[in-house]
Amino acid sequence: MWFFSDEQKMLQDTVRQFAHDELAPKIEKLDHEEGFNRESFLKMGELGLLGITVSEEDGGAGLGAVEATIAMEEMGAVDASTTLSYLAHAILCVNQIGANGSAEQKKKFLPDLISGKKMGGMGMSEPGAGSDMLSMTTKAAKSGDGYVLTGTKTWITNGPNGDTFYVYAKTGETKKDVSTFIIERGMAGFSTGKKFSKMGMRASPTGELVFDGIKIPASLRVGDEGGSVKRMMQNLDLERVTISGISLGIARGAIDVATQYAKDRKQFGKPIGSFQMIQERLTEASAWYEACRHITYNTAKMIDLGLLVGKEASVLSAKAKLQAAQMATQVALDAIQILGGYGYTREFPVERMMRDAKLMEIGAGTNEVMRMIIARQMLGEIAAL
Ligand SMILES: Cc1cc2nc3c(=O)[nH]c(=O)nc-3n(C[C@H](O)[C@H](O)[C@H](O)COP(=O)(O)OP(=O)(O)OC[C@H]3O[C@@H](n4cnc5c(N)ncnc54)[C@H](O)[C@@H]3O)c2cc1C
Repeated sequence: MWFFSDEQKMLQDTVRQFAHDELAPKIEKLDHEEGFNRESFLKMGELGLLGITVSEEDGGAGLGAVEATIAMEEMGAVDASTTLSYLAHAILCVNQIGANGSAEQKKKFLPDLISGKKMGGMGMSEPGAGSDMLSMTTKAAKSGDGYVLTGTKTWITNGPNGDTFYVYAKTGETKKDVSTFIIERGMAGFSTGKKFSKMGMRASPTGELVFDGIKIPASLRVGDEGGSVKRMMQNLDLERVTISGISLGIARGAIDVATQYAKDRKQFGKPIGSFQMIQERLTEASAWYEACRHITYNTAKMIDLGLLVGKEASVLSAKAKLQAAQMATQVALDAIQILGGYGYTREFPVERMMRDAKLMEIGAGTNEVMRMIIARQMLGEIAAL
């Protein structure tokens, strides 16, 4: 992007090299076996990526949404699943503790999360509360000086293998009575339930978190009781713009493979890239990727500069996420078509990219939810009738 600083370009080069050396050689096997690349996750810690948005004072890299999106795009171009786990750790858990935690909470949890010794995740979704997340039923009931946590979270990225979770729970009767707690593996009453076997993002473990009467001291509540909805929404905005970086990465990876293939593969005595119908797919993909790149990094930059007021951040992030996610799926499908039979096999990565891209249209809010956010801004109350 034209506004990337020299430091941001350096970060881009560093993460691109890391993805090439560390992630690319391992992803096919991990995707097949539904494993997790813990070794490379630890190396992300050495590179300073795991606390990318946490202030330097608190041990992080002190960077913003633009840099986090750069990291997502560069890693997402070769391995979207490990990148999704990275996002859940760095943006949904570590960023939130850094932004909202007390001095003691930051001191206690951030060092191990930023080094990679511990892995983080975030628990918002529940079996009965997905798009309508404020209908969550996980409850933190007051008990003496603390709380007792009961309920189940589902679809939690890093749930099966994570250590520290940023968990939302109800502390009152209304939809807005949401509080946040830091829950650690090993606490009495905590267990991880089912691990899901997925179509894509297979090297990013997803599972349930079960809270069976966990006794939590008040010192593990983040922020005020009942005061989490606004911060949850702000984090969703950051999640949506940074996850768009993964969509960009998937699309770029698929375009690179398809372009090379169009040069190499010959049919009817010519490279298939000389056929206008192949050129149409490649050029549309490239132009659409470029458009999504602009809206995504522009939104990230505006968030970093504090230029988006009130709900503007939610609307622009929703627009970026909606378009980038749809673009990634379509571009990956087009890449499969360009590769013909090979595109449909595991000989090339484009089938994996298509499986991974589909999650971009569901996770962090579905396409339909993004359209609802945009429609509410355009139509006001009429959209909610
Ligand atoms: C791989 C993966 C990783 C995830 N990681 C996390 C995580 O780390 N933490 C976490 O908390 N959650 C996570 N999620 C959950 C994710 O955010 C939810 O799946 C998503 O918000 C949708 O919720 P749902 O699956 O319950 O679908 P539902 O809300 O049940 O929606 C089903 C369908 O109905 C549509 N729909 C719903 N309401 C409306 C409406 N009002 N108008 C029109 N259409 C509507 C939806 O768009 C969708 O098409 C993850 C999910 C996946 C698959």
